[in-house]
Amino acid sequence: MIDLTAQTTFRLPFQAATVIELASLETAATQLQGIDAPALVLAGGSNWIQLDPTFLGTVIRPRLMHCHAEIVQDEVRLRVGAGVLWHQLVMDTLASGWYGLENLALIPGWVGAAPIQNIGAYGVELSSVCTAVLAWDFVTPAAGHVDQRRLCVCLSRFPVQARFHPILHS
Ligand SMILES: Cc1cc2nc3c(=O)[nH]c(=O)nc-3n(C[C@H](O)[C@H](O)[C@H](O)COP(=O)(O)OP(=O)(O)OC[C@H]3O[C@@H](n4cnc5c(N)ncnc54)[C@H](O)[C@@H]3O)c2cc1C
Repeated sequence: MIDLTAQTTFRLPFQAATVIELASLETAATQLQGIDAPALVLAGGSNWIQLDPTFLGTVIRPRLMHCHAEIVQDEVRLRVGAGVLWHQLVMDTLASGWYGLENLALIPGWVGAAPIQNIGAYGVELSSVCTAVLAWDFVTPAAGHVDQRRLCVCLSRFPVQARFHPILHS
């Protein structure tokens, strides 16, 4: 068993049979295809309470750290890996003079959790700035984009239960 207790803010006892770390988009599909259910995604662990200390399935840690920016006219489009620290992303955009995420500064956690939680603060929610999420569909299984309209539906239906898991990037 692998001890993950220190990986969550509450530090409740938590051990998993298998842990896989997704390090790049190129290898993630192969890693994800090899997973037998059940599986959980654990990111920064700041919104995580583990009631059962033992999990016999696979815990996925999406440590995808890419960040690509494309400037189209007066708009900046970012493609950011699920493992990037959310607050660091906000700081990096501000340092570049790109505004829009500043109300969401200091929210703990990783980028990949942001659409799952639809993080929000000071009147701004992620859903107002996130246009699409690259998600892994465990049924197909394959990666696919969930656009903003479907994302909003997912968000209002609690996406953890949904078929798409935005493990990869948003
Ligand atoms: C002190 C404090 C202040 C906070 N302030 C705010 C705030 O102002 N606004 C706000 O909205 N939230 C706030 N939060 C909540 C928290 O920051 C967010 O919910 C954040 O998105 C959690 O990110 P995480 O990486 O820690 O996710 P985790 O705790 O690791 O995971 C949370 C859930 O998301 C799922 N998940 C995570 N990543 C992925 C992924 N890539 N793919 C699929 N599922 C995934 C997990 O399975 C789990 O169900 C606060 C939390 C703390 C502790």
